[in-house]
Amino acid sequence: MAGLEENLTAVRARIDAAARAAGRDPATVGLLAVSKTWPAADVRALAALGQHDFGENRVQELLDKAGELEGVALRWHFVGQLQRNKAAALVRTGAVVHSVDRTSLVTTLDRAGRSAGRPVEVFLQVDLGGPVGEAAARGGAQPGDVPALADAAAEAAGLRLRGLMAVAPRDGDPAPAFARLAALAERVRADHPEADALSAGMSGDLEAAVAAGATLVRVGTALFGSRPLPCGEFEEHQPRESQQSHGAHPNRTTGDDATTTVPTRR
Ligand SMILES: *Cc1c(COP(=O)(O)O)cnc(C)c1O
Repeated sequence: MAGLEENLTAVRARIDAAARAAGRDPATVGLLAVSKTWPAADVRALAALGQHDFGENRVQELLDKAGELEGVALRWHFVGQLQRNKAAALVRTGAVVHSVDRTSLVTTLDRAGRSAGRPVEVFLQVDLGGPVGEAAARGGAQPGDVPALADAAAEAAGLRLRGLMAVAPRDGDPAPAFARLAALAERVRADHPEADALSAGMSGDLEAAVAAGATLVRVGTALFGSRPLPCGEFEEHQPRESQQSHGAHPNRTTGDDATTTVPTRR
């Protein structure tokens, strides 16, 4: 797993450089390692290197890994589309939820947090636009709906509002989208000063997100390598990797499937 250590060092260096370039203290930008499709063994290895926060976009995959890694000091984050019938199980893991984008989810998570006896930390996901199908698959509240959603989340005893989360549109310069997100975050913070976190930036655009004020960047590919499904992160798909170690990956040893992206580590 030497690749993981190098990747972690490189990603942290990118974050630190971006923070300094923006005149920010690097310690104010956290790293969320998005481990979706990668096995629990990789999470364990990164945790041993001091990485604490891990993100998943499918509830079942998060529950499976949380079960395998019980006793390991780490914090789970859920960054995918959440179905209400899976909220209670998710909340029992203590996961931070980054994808609250409608009042029905506020209600459901509030109830789950109250029955767990511990407020659920939530980010409100904002739709920053982009191609229609892409934005719909990804989720997110319309920016105009976010202040009222923030009020509802802040009032809910079973929730703790952390701030906003967003994914920049896939194509084009992410800076204008992140600037809109930052302005919206500032407005929400004026009403709810405790909502001082901003979850933004991925492998390809973390520098722009840090420049716009991100306090938590969500990085998958730059840490773990390319996922088997190039566009899978916003689609329902089965995890390909969670049942096997990388060393045993069929593509790794045979290289026989030209249509599948072979997971690689830089
Ligand atoms: C997969 C995913 C990430 C990480 O994306 P990379 O480009 O692999 O770094 C971040 N945020 C969300 C919501 C994701 O689904």
